[in-house]
Amino acid sequence: MIRPELAKMKGYIPLDPVDVLGKQAGKGVAGVIKLDGNENPYGCSPRARRAIARFPYYNYYPDPEQRELRALLASYTGVPAERIVMGAGSDELIDNILRLFVRPGDSVINCPPTFGMYPFSTEVCGGVVVGVPRKADFGVDVAAVGRAASGARVVFIASPNNPTGNVTPREDILALLETGLVVVVDEAYYEFSGETVAPLVGKYPNLMVLRTFSKWAGLAGLRVGYGMFPEDVAVALMKIKQPYNINAAAQAAAVASLKDLDYLQGTVKAIVKERGRLMKRLQSLKWLTPYPSEANFILCRVGPEAKAVWQYLRQNGIFIRYFDSPALREYIRISVGKPEHTDAVIEALREFRKAYPFKGERMAN
Ligand SMILES: *Cc1c(COP(=O)(O)O)cnc(C)c1O
Repeated sequence: MIRPELAKMKGYIPLDPVDVLGKQAGKGVAGVIKLDGNENPYGCSPRARRAIARFPYYNYYPDPEQRELRALLASYTGVPAERIVMGAGSDELIDNILRLFVRPGDSVINCPPTFGMYPFSTEVCGGVVVGVPRKADFGVDVAAVGRAASGARVVFIASPNNPTGNVTPREDILALLETGLVVVVDEAYYEFSGETVAPLVGKYPNLMVLRTFSKWAGLAGLRVGYGMFPEDVAVALMKIKQPYNINAAAQAAAVASLKDLDYLQGTVKAIVKERGRLMKRLQSLKWLTPYPSEANFILCRVGPEAKAVWQYLRQNGIFIRYFDSPALREYIRISVGKPEHTDAVIEALREFRKAYPFKGERMAN
């Protein structure tokens, strides 16, 4: 009875929660170093935590229009509140955008390696994924997207891109807008890069920009994202979304976060500083190649041993991301944590290398 294309679909591989990881590593939660989800290692704003505890109206449905939150976001982003739509994570907005623009059989352009939710939600919505691989430097192949554009409806561009860390330059976004496709620029890591095309929203009928509270604001567990849209698209998205999609606790926490920007920007600054330190330490390991990153993670090319590295770290309670896909089989992605997490992951990588010399090395030694 199940739609056959969904019955055979692979599905998204999500992360396990920290308590499950602790059990797996035989360490307990406190012993886990979690560098697999690009989450904020400093936690959420203390004001957000208090706001959740003190909110008096959990017995009532939450604001379906998220009025207070969108008004605060208007001043945070410079985009008027009428153009801002909230999602239960930006993941929900990806899904709602596809529901709005894609009919069964329509094509959606995906530029791998990139965020796995784009092809996932496209397939769930009955769309057809057209892959236009990124170039060797992980830049978007704008000319190839242009060639694939006729007959397609939407293109997703994560900038900075997950998992590669690079920003797509504004001139590339402008060229993509020329194709007439719906161009969704996913700025989940904007606060770590400082680069945005949000000021262009409303100037182009086909530009939409997504953001989230999951990464910089430490609210991944509460699921709060938002998008900035041309006005008619915002109206349509407000109409088709689940009415009470952002729960009351999430709204209270996001509002309090936007009133605690000094604190949160302090943690962003600490993470950006630590990104530089992690990069230098990774560069000192000559057997892997870290890629420059504008986000809060670093992609490394390891070679055929990548999966073994991931497994070795897991056994030692250090969780990083490994993608079992053809393009990323030889890579690992490490989220930027606190300084002590950097020290632990570098130490473990050194131990791995001592315990498991690479093929050929054993004889050379
Ligand atoms: C993490 C991530 C998201 C998901 O954000 P949520 O708001 O937690 O759903 C979206 N896009 C990219 C590129 C991400 O890396």
